[in-house]
Amino acid sequence: MAAIATDESTSPRHALDADREPRRVVILGSTGSIGRSAIRVLEHDAGKRLRGWGLAANKGVETLCEQAHAVRPWAIALADRASVERIDGRLKGLDVQVFAGIDGIGRLVEDARTDVVLSAIVGAAGLEGTWAAIEAGKTVALANKETLVVAGSLVMDLAARRGVQILPVDSEHSAIFQAMRSGRRSEVKRVVLTSSGGPFRGKKASELKSITPDEALRHPTWRMGPKISIDSATLMNKALEVIEARWLFGLEPEQIEVVIHPESIVHSFVEFVDGGVIAQLSPPDMRLPIQYALTYPERVDGGCAALDWTQALTLRFEPPDRETFPCLELGFEVMRRGGTAGAALNAANEVAVARFLDGSIGFHDIPRACRAALDSHSYDPRPTLDALRRVDAWARQEVIRWRS
Ligand code: MG
Repeated sequence: MAAIATDESTSPRHALDADREPRRVVILGSTGSIGRSAIRVLEHDAGKRLRGWGLAANKGVETLCEQAHAVRPWAIALADRASVERIDGRLKGLDVQVFAGIDGIGRLVEDARTDVVLSAIVGAAGLEGTWAAIEAGKTVALANKETLVVAGSLVMDLAARRGVQILPVDSEHSAIFQAMRSGRRSEVKRVVLTSSGGPFRGKKASELKSITPDEALRHPTWRMGPKISIDSATLMNKALEVIEARWLFGLEPEQIEVVIHPESIVHSFVEFVDGGVIAQLSPPDMRLPIQYALTYPERVDGGCAALDWTQALTLRFEPPDRETFPCLELGFEVMRRGGTAGAALNAANEVAVARFLDGSIGFHDIPRACRAALDSHSYDPRPTLDALRRVDAWARQEVIRWRS
């Protein structure tokens, strides 16, 4: 099975030296939570190592145009064609190309001068852009975990065929990627993903029935977009990350574990065969893993706060409560099954989260709706990309109709 290499000597594309031109970065999903953090990384770098080359969003015209003034890219793209009209005079004074529609996003990704594509569109919608970037032979900084949940096996195989490196941006996977550099791949015994436990850590299943969207959106340690905030509250986010880790690092299902760590300081760790554990620690700030992926293998001062060791700091670790948070088990099950299971689970979850947010199902219904879709989908162990798209569409319809 194809997996990312953690030895930088295998990646000549990343041989940074002082004379080298800044790396040209295209951000897919620049107006979202990760995209906005990435813009701050580019601003702090100020063109030394990184250059904002292309910015793509769905319809967030105002933010996108502000970002264009901040990083002065070669081009921007709006997936929603009608939104282009709303640009008006917002790009005044800028020499910037404007593209529209999915083909427009393709223009940014496939431009011969693009070096790195940061894939930060939320949900299965991020798969197409990621796929196009790999096809075009671009290095991918991957924040869109759904890409690997839906099509991990196909995506990693394509990356191997194209000689493309996929660098993780998800904080847990970035931590594992960093920790893996201290040993050989054959020396890795297992990886342990940390989870804050979300806003409902310590609650029992019966207490979760009356949870409102507002309560679920309030994450204790991370500020994120609505979809990932709800996923963090159900622990579906960790379920998706378990699947992401399996494909990204080419691990066996039994090599992946999850531990609850409420402080979100230890972002994950790797246990080696000798029992040594290497972890990555830092205050929770997505700019660090974003920057690490964009400047890899170099580490630079990006202006993120450091841990303050003059203050007492307690780090707690506890096993997850799998009964209260059944989404986690769904993730482990789907990781073991592979095939179309990831596409079914992911699509079901996206619709279930949207339905919870619009008030048509309860918080505790999210895993139930996902379970129903997963169990009734027609499983294929070796699907094509088209088959995965069909399962995705089918699962969405199932959950739209689902009644508790
Ligand atoms: Mg994460």
